[in-house]
Formats: sequence, structure tokens, C-alpha cells
Amino acid sequence: MPVTLPQLSRRDFLKRAALAGAAAALSPSSHAALFGKARDVHTVAFFSDAHIAADTAATHLNCNMAAQLTAAVNELAARPLPPGNIVVNGDLAFEKGLPEDYATFGKIIAPLRALAPLHLTLGNHDSREKFWAAFPHDTLQQKAVPLRNVGMFGADHANWFLLDSLLLTASAPGELGAEQLKWLEHELNFHFHRPAIVVVHHNPQFGAVTTGLRDTTALMELLARKAHVKAVVFGHTHDWRVTQHESGIQLVNLPPTAYPFHIKRPCGWVRCTLAKDGAEFELRCLDVNHPQHGEKQVLKWRKD
Ligand SMILES: [Zn+2]
Repeated sequence: MPVTLPQLSRRDFLKRAALAGAAAALSPSSHAALFGKARDVHTVAFFSDAHIAADTAATHLNCNMAAQLTAAVNELAARPLPPGNIVVNGDLAFEKGLPEDYATFGKIIAPLRALAPLHLTLGNHDSREKFWAAFPHDTLQQKAVPLRNVGMFGADHANWFLLDSLLLTASAPGELGAEQLKWLEHELNFHFHRPAIVVVHHNPQFGAVTTGLRDTTALMELLARKAHVKAVVFGHTHDWRVTQHESGIQLVNLPPTAYPFHIKRPCGWVRCTLAKDGAEFELRCLDVNHPQHGEKQVLKWRKD
């Protein structure tokens, strides 16, 4: 099932922006500036935990989610070199994945559509059916796990596998399920010639699973066995940090882009730049005075 919104031409972009009423948010000169840039094929820009409500005035801990996501989108759009791909890693919607939430979310992310292919995964505050209904004509059809929002894309130095850990809307824990794990194993076996990086909304949670990924053990056992799997990228905890699994797999926890759990923890986005044998993950805080703004985690992949 679909997960990827293709990059738009200038003509298609303007047609859609006008239809969606999003054109007013962008000046004509900023429209023009979005197009015709070469992309940096080695980078992926990550957004996570946007929690966009229908009402653009909604706030949490004095943070306005719509304004925060808009700021991150604008920062990425203003860069001279757009990324090769963009991922928004779940909890796109505020709380329950309402159609109106996705309408607002769609308007805010509109400029990203001009920059690069945009991949959307789902979290526990999304609704799969309402998400699919909100983006019906945009999505690339893919044969994958029925009723799950999964996919993959390739880049020079890695293949990226996008999973769907949404179990129950507005309930914290997540689950992949046996069928999705089987699909993942099949895809990993087929695409063994490059490093593999897995992207999933829920955090692998070791020991008793309370709010994280229920089938962490099954997932990590599978990934540990496949030597070409180098990293897992996830959100959900709203807490930027990088750790390492005992297998050597890197565990990259994205910060929330728009909805902080703790006011002092960073909100923003992450730029991943791939190399042959590793990757650099750079934190881009929305508050440029945050002490962690610009922090770089330089990761070396485990051996094949
Ligand atoms: Zn969240």
C-alpha cells in the first residue's frame, strides 16, 4: 500500500497549491525558489512527531505545532541543496488522525512536495484509513503488506525500508505483526547488495514493552541476523538520542519536529548524510540557540 508522494513539477505544484488553498502561505518568489535545484542524493531529511491538528492555532507546552512544522519546512525549502528524499516518520496528526488534521498537515508540507520524494509513515496518533483517504491520488501504488503502510526506496549508499507500527489509534504501543516481518525479511533478502536502514515510528523497547514496539524482540532478532542491516531510525519517544544495539546496529531516535514532551529537549529535524561505510546524523533545532543545535552523530556501520 502507498507511502510515497512523488516530487511535483512546478506546474503540478501550483495547480495543487491553488486547489488546496495553500498558495497564500507562500509568496510567488518563494514558489519559484523551490524548483530547479539539484538534489543531494546522499542525504535524507527526517521530520517526526508533527502532531498537526486541524486548527493551526493548537499548542502543546506553549509550542504551536503548525508553526513549528512550518518553520522546519521553510528551513529545508530555503537550503540551496535539497535532500535526495524526505521522510516524515509518524504521528502526522494531532491525536486521532482526523480527516481535518490531514488536510492541515497536507497544506503545511506542500512545499516539501516540490523538493524531493516525500515518504510518510504512520504512528499511534494516525489513522491508516483516514490517512489513505486524505492522500488518494498522490500515492505510488506498491504491492506490499495488505492493510499496512510500508515501502522502500533506494539511494547510492543504502536502501531504506519504511515500516508501519500503528497498532491502535490513540493507544501508545505499536506492533509490526508477523506478516509485516515476513515481508521485511523477504525484502531484506532481495536487497542485500547495499546497507539497509529500517525506519519505523515506534521505538524498539527492550525488556517489558509498555509504550514502544511490542515485537521488538522479533524485529531485532531478524535485523541482527542480516549483516547488511546497519541502523534503525524511529521517533515516538520525542527524545533525540543515538545508541547502539548489542548486534552493532545503530539506533537513531529522532527528535519531535513540533510536539515536545519536555520543554528543554530539542525540537527540529535531522539531516542524514550517507557515506559508504556509515552516516552522519545532524540535529537541526528549530531554536538555533538550543545547546544541541547542529549536533552531529557520526556513525560507522557494523561489519558485513
Ligand atoms: Zn508522537
